[in-house]
Amino acid sequence: MLITLQKRRLQLRNPLVTAHGSTTDRHIIEITARDGDFHGHGEAAPLPGFGLETFDEALAALEQWATNPELLPESPAALSGAATAVENLEKSRLRRSDPKGAIAVQALVGTPEISLVETQISDALANGYLAIKMKVAATDTSTDISRVQAAAALLGSKAALRLDANGGWSMRDALAVLSSVDLSHIDLVEEPTSNPLDWRKINEETGVNIGADEQLTNHLQVGMLLELRAAQTFVLKPSVIGGPLATRRMAGLAAENGVDILISSFLDGPIGLRSARDLALELAPNKIHGLGTAPLFVDELPADVQPIDGYLRCS
Ligand SMILES: [Mg+2]
Repeated sequence: MLITLQKRRLQLRNPLVTAHGSTTDRHIIEITARDGDFHGHGEAAPLPGFGLETFDEALAALEQWATNPELLPESPAALSGAATAVENLEKSRLRRSDPKGAIAVQALVGTPEISLVETQISDALANGYLAIKMKVAATDTSTDISRVQAAAALLGSKAALRLDANGGWSMRDALAVLSSVDLSHIDLVEEPTSNPLDWRKINEETGVNIGADEQLTNHLQVGMLLELRAAQTFVLKPSVIGGPLATRRMAGLAAENGVDILISSFLDGPIGLRSARDLALELAPNKIHGLGTAPLFVDELPADVQPIDGYLRCS
């Protein structure tokens, strides 16, 4: 197997502001694994602040793998990209075609500005999205309350509202924001605080479903989340949890424990998005997934990863 690596940068239209900081672009390592006429693609794109390796560490790990393809990289983003390339190479060898169908995806709102929140949500509704995810906990609690109230008022029952605090709220912040809105509007809160011990209490006090995301990159943590019954949904990001096989394993574990799953992009490039889309279709075809991120980039991503009327289509 011959492995080649290519660096690529994708520029976001607007900075995405989360509790981990502001992201303006994505630095991606595109991976091609070849064997004779067959080839498979993968992608590694770590992002600072999400508990992953740095870009340079991912690149070094992939360069090392290229010299010895039997030994997959260990660091999470590099491993996920390598495992995706290997599975895609195998699919190409077996001449297995991609799955057919469509999956619903959510729009992502990451701006702290209330007027922009309103514009982005109106655009998302006009474009047919059935769920909107808004980043919270990036500024202060009163701004979050205004943003969540504005979003809930605009969405009504037209689309589901999901919040993602990326672990940035305290328990008090979480309860303050969640008690300020009609909770029938809130479908899910991802990583409300950095401590999963809080999550069960937030769920019990508010009834809102809690999603685990960043915590899932640590295998020991996954067992603890299940034991604590801390989350009702696992947000699985194939590009950081180890690629397709690891995602299937985690989905199986979630199902055994009565936990729902969603598949999500890590602001992935086209290869990561395509792989995540196919896994969403395979593992949870009727959910609304976090894969509507292609339009966030200035660069025009390929049509097959661009949402149309709130859906990604595999054909
Ligand atoms: Mg998240």
